[in-house]
Amino acid sequence: DGGGNVRVVVRVRAFLQREIERRTKCLISMDPITQQTTLLAPEDPDANPRAPPKSRKVIEEKNFTFDNSFWSHNPKDKHYASQADVYNSLGEEFLDHNFEGYHTCIFAYGQTGSGKSYTMMGTPDHPGLIPRTCEDLFERIEAAQNEDSNVAYNVRVSYFEVYNEHVRDLLVPVVPNKPPNYLKIRESPTEGPYVKDLTEVPVRNIDEILRYMTNGDASRTTASTKMNDTSSRSHAVFTIMLKQIHHDMETDETTERSSRIRLVDLAGSERAKSTEATGARLREGSNINKSLTTLGRVIAALADPKALRSGKRKDVVPYRDSILTWLLKDSLGGNSKTAMIACIAPSDYEETLSTLRYADQAKRIRTRAVVNQDQIS
Ligand code: ADP
Ligand code: MG
Repeated sequence: DGGGNVRVVVRVRAFLQREIERRTKCLISMDPITQQTTLLAPEDPDANPRAPPKSRKVIEEKNFTFDNSFWSHNPKDKHYASQADVYNSLGEEFLDHNFEGYHTCIFAYGQTGSGKSYTMMGTPDHPGLIPRTCEDLFERIEAAQNEDSNVAYNVRVSYFEVYNEHVRDLLVPVVPNKPPNYLKIRESPTEGPYVKDLTEVPVRNIDEILRYMTNGDASRTTASTKMNDTSSRSHAVFTIMLKQIHHDMETDETTERSSRIRLVDLAGSERAKSTEATGARLREGSNINKSLTTLGRVIAALADPKALRSGKRKDVVPYRDSILTWLLKDSLGGNSKTAMIACIAPSDYEETLSTLRYADQAKRIRTRAVVNQDQIS
């Protein structure tokens, strides 16, 4: 059955070196049994330099329950969630769905420095969801091909980023002193919105796919040193297309299952605060990220039962107001099994509360995934 709610999990990262040096206090606790996440009130609210005194809200303990609460704060704890644990409890199941023929999408949300890229991409020593999904994908394909000669697989990959409402192909090398080639969005009646002329490369094994992943990621980072902190402002979308062609010897029928695996590393959520813009915020107006503010409105519209009841849901949800939400339309409110990983830092009350509230709202979204299967002969 493909109908279901967006799966929402939360993950808290370890202290960084500078946080240890400042003897920062951890404001998060998680209950491994109930999966409850608690945000504790900081002892001294004035110690939070980010909160302007006038706008400061009531600071108190808050509780949230999610599908999983991943405790990645201290590796010595019994309930520590490693990169492998996150993959085993989320990535693996989503890959099962892909082999069943469903589209999936996993996106990481959270402020800059909360662990989104660590969770999605990881490091060479601690690979994240994307490399683990690629590895598992090719292991399964090899195992299946050894077992059954009537099934063939076709894997293709694409990687793009949305930066400042422009789409840039991350699989096209950056040419120095040449302006980047921005791509346009089109909408097909059958496939929905897509990026026109986006590079889609066939990949035959784990090494090939990891090479495209690494090169694309480097292309994102290369630009960031030039353009001042791009990676916190850009949304990176890594997509794997899996085609399974099965020939049934008895009926002589050939069927094809196509699924899309979308893995998204969003821009830092602090970029979404347009409504709270103060004078200082407005002056650095380019920091406000239209795709991120629109994502918030799309999630709010999808989560609001009143909008659902009006029967005019299509008109209510403002997918087309930003590049990211337009492209992710299916993943957010349509034919997809979708998960959100809310990444939080251990000691930022205001930003963490905002992330947890956002995640709490996303739990109410329902999608309707179908098996994408066609008989081709
Ligand atoms: P974001 O992509 O959200 O801006 P990063 O993934 O770059 O954040 O994480 C910020 C820093 O914290 C990096 O140095 C990263 O290695 C570290 N980090 C993030 N999550 C974890 C974790 N679960 N365990 C250990 N270190 C982490
Ligand atoms: Mg990042």
